[in-house]
Amino acid sequence: MTTMIILNTQGIVLKGVRYNENDVILTLFTRKLGKVVAIAKGAKKNKSSLLSSSQLFSYSNYTLKRQGNMYRVSQSDTIKSFYDISYDIEAFSYATYVTKLIENTTLENQTNNRLFILLAQTLYLYSQQNVDKKFITHAFELKFLDYMGLKPVINRCVVCNNKELGKPTFNVYEGGVICSKCSENIEENIKVDVTTIKLMEYILSNDILKCSKAKVSKYITYELQKILKKYLIVHVDNVNFKSLSLLQELENIKGVDKGE
Ligand SMILES: [Zn+2]
Repeated sequence: MTTMIILNTQGIVLKGVRYNENDVILTLFTRKLGKVVAIAKGAKKNKSSLLSSSQLFSYSNYTLKRQGNMYRVSQSDTIKSFYDISYDIEAFSYATYVTKLIENTTLENQTNNRLFILLAQTLYLYSQQNVDKKFITHAFELKFLDYMGLKPVINRCVVCNNKELGKPTFNVYEGGVICSKCSENIEENIKVDVTTIKLMEYILSNDILKCSKAKVSKYITYELQKILKKYLIVHVDNVNFKSLSLLQELENIKGVDKGE
């Protein structure tokens, strides 16, 4: 006898691949099951009740039925479609980057409720006007590292544990901030402003909605970006910055136009 497992859970679409004419294979990040693959049958039909909740970034309630190694979406109810993100190149690039980061680094059926909430809040911020989406993306990266158990040490020297940092540096291989004394004996340290360290502490102790209200200078954002990019490459497998390359090119063009 086979038992059919049915489950209701909130989820966010990380990826959707069309299958047959009208079906979509969804990779969902769910609250109750973590990352799962589920087929949404007939989702591409115009009048399908699954249409909206099968689109990229959609945040919905799903009723999932287990079928072998896969799930089937039997019902869904969209909470927020975040569909507008797809019309804004900046928001779309960052949203693609963060969803890919989760898709590539989380394991199937491994729940991470804090990461789920972080993703939902971050997509919400990407859908808003007047939000510094670049800074939000770096705040996401830092909180992501925390929730994956890979948080860098910020509040003390990672080598000697001293809280008095003097003129600190950051070292991705050591895994955090290094005091001025220890910095002398260690190579490949990255220059870091004390304001950047304070900001990292702030990001780690507040939710991303609150972080989005912070006014952060371009220089501090740049330092944050430099440190986190290197940290992610060293500590996280499969990190892929490809979705950000178009944005980078656009920024370069803007720089040329301004004669920078
Ligand atoms: Zn030290």
